[in-house]
Amino acid sequence: MTPEGQALLGQGAAELGLNVEGQLPQFEQLLDLLVEANSRVNLTALKTESDIVLKHFVDSLSCLRGEHLDGAGLRVLDIGTGAGFPTLPLAIVRPDAAFTPLDSIRKKIDFVRSAAETLNLKGVTPLVGRAETLGRDPEHRETYDRVVCRAVAALPILAELGLPLLKPGGLLVAQKGPISEEELHAGRRAADEVGGRVTEVDAFTLPVLGDARTLVVIEKVGPTPKKYPRREGVPNQQPLF
Ligand code: SAM
Repeated sequence: MTPEGQALLGQGAAELGLNVEGQLPQFEQLLDLLVEANSRVNLTALKTESDIVLKHFVDSLSCLRGEHLDGAGLRVLDIGTGAGFPTLPLAIVRPDAAFTPLDSIRKKIDFVRSAAETLNLKGVTPLVGRAETLGRDPEHRETYDRVVCRAVAALPILAELGLPLLKPGGLLVAQKGPISEEELHAGRRAADEVGGRVTEVDAFTLPVLGDARTLVVIEKVGPTPKKYPRREGVPNQQPLF
């Protein structure tokens, strides 16, 4: 990573209240792995160092706002992790948590697995699959303390995919761009339907770039009816609200 890239990462993290100096070698390694893998397979549209540092690394770290991911030993599922975001940056700075990055696309999870191995992120267990299937699997249903997701789907869809996987009292932390009143309203109704309640809507701007982001937190306040999640593809094709 160039000195400029290091400075952007340091500044972005500092604006989030984080000091990542000690983890700089891991971020540098992750940047190299991503650039190298992207030259072979199309993993992510972001290709320049500054884009990767700000729009992948710092953007992923913004999921730590509000301290919803603080706490030793949390089991965290990342739905639709793609090339490992937000999981990989989060796992670098939260080595005591257990992350399960999930994606339906095998080549993406192959990259996440090899990156986690190279970076020696022992708490990361990547999985190929769909959230709808996991949500019906007794080995996964109601077993996670947190579900995170970044740039995956509209809030009502995320509520249906995420809430079945949470333990009672668990939190879904959805990182999104700016969110409309309509989406938020639909998300509140969907959360209610699947045993959740929207407890926080944190609108903020991304460090350095100033792009608008929103962290929406849904707490699991009651059981999720057995009929959810519906079968693969249905939550997207026919959102609850
Ligand atoms: N979270 C990553 C990021 O921020 O860079 C990737 C975002 S990408 C736009 C959405 C990803 O979610 C895709 O890789 C897609 O395969 C995955 N995805 C969408 N719906 C899914 C589902 N129901 N189960 C598992 N993965 C899903």
